[in-house]
Amino acid sequence: MIPYGKHHISQGDVDAVVEVLQHQFITQGEQVPAFEEALSTYTGARYATAVHSGTAGLHIACLALGVSIGDIVWTVPNSFVASANCALYCGATIDFVDIDADTKNINPVDLANKLIQAKANGSLPKALIVVHFAGEPCDMKTIFELCQSYGVAVIEDACHALGGDYDGQKIGTCQYSDITVLSFHPVKSITTAEGGAVLTNSPELASRCQLFGKHGVTRDDTLMSQPSQGPWDYQQLVLGYNYRMSDLHAALGISQLKRLDLFIQKRREKAQFYHQHLASLPITLPRQSEQSAWHLYCITLKEHDRKSVFEQLRAHQIGVNVHYKPIHLQPFYQQLGFKEGDYPAAEAFYEKALTIPLFPDLTADEQTRVIDVLHEVLG
Ligand SMILES: *Cc1c(COP(=O)(O)O)cnc(C)c1O
Repeated sequence: MIPYGKHHISQGDVDAVVEVLQHQFITQGEQVPAFEEALSTYTGARYATAVHSGTAGLHIACLALGVSIGDIVWTVPNSFVASANCALYCGATIDFVDIDADTKNINPVDLANKLIQAKANGSLPKALIVVHFAGEPCDMKTIFELCQSYGVAVIEDACHALGGDYDGQKIGTCQYSDITVLSFHPVKSITTAEGGAVLTNSPELASRCQLFGKHGVTRDDTLMSQPSQGPWDYQQLVLGYNYRMSDLHAALGISQLKRLDLFIQKRREKAQFYHQHLASLPITLPRQSEQSAWHLYCITLKEHDRKSVFEQLRAHQIGVNVHYKPIHLQPFYQQLGFKEGDYPAAEAFYEKALTIPLFPDLTADEQTRVIDVLHEVLG
């Protein structure tokens, strides 16, 4: 089966992890701060906090912004459940803004209208979490300006987008957001097996991210609320979590990050190849984007039944997938009161969406096979 996504591990990656294993520290050593610095250098964000998953990153991003009981957070239905769960972890309530049918990202017009309404009935959110779906950047300039005028914080869920560009800068630079969150799960741009990071330009937010990800405990006496009792003293200031990344994972991340641009270049070339060879089929191709990190290549069927096409492709050993069943249609979210029909654009996309294999090591032969089978099934 050709998978829809796959990581690439080099001998250099293996050596980097083994080297850490042979050293004194396998966690809380030098690798995590070095990885944080490398992420900050790559993205252009001033501060990076490495954590053990993208989900943990979203949680501490919300905590750092002060999201808590009584607050409202907005995100999009067309994402992985973690984009919404993070707000609920903090005791906040969640609401959604529908997507744009072309970009599959948050619809800025819907956002503008929802902000006007929310202001009128006193239900403005504390934060908005936008998702760069499939690696395609959201219209951040418009979104950030809108949100700033209403005092709403902006978190970029960039779990699909590391290595992509927006407005001449790298995704993660946080020029148009308060915080950006990354994931290093194996299907993402680079991997640490499990892992994630939180990026920001604000020293206060960065310090809160570090605090919430490390039990709420500090050893920095300038941050302590009681006078330090001595060099051994640490003080818990808030209720935090153990979301630390280990040095083994960070060493893998440092090694992977060196090949990120190469990975993205390969993804972009393969996406281009799909555009050329699938154009004649009765499908809608994803937007041809030069900025995208091409995490996923999602096509939309025009006339064919998705389930039948999915099954035929799987029978041909093509590991297609579907991104995403809208979050508000999950049983847990239905219990919270969301209904089918609430977000028509996300629902319509889901009905016809199909993710076909795209990853840096997808060979020319494999990609040709995917294209041939698609022509056979849809032609
Ligand atoms: C992968 C992903 C996450 C969660 O990241 P993990 O590292 O798996 O916890 C969150 N949001 C989106 C959009 C993702 O794709």
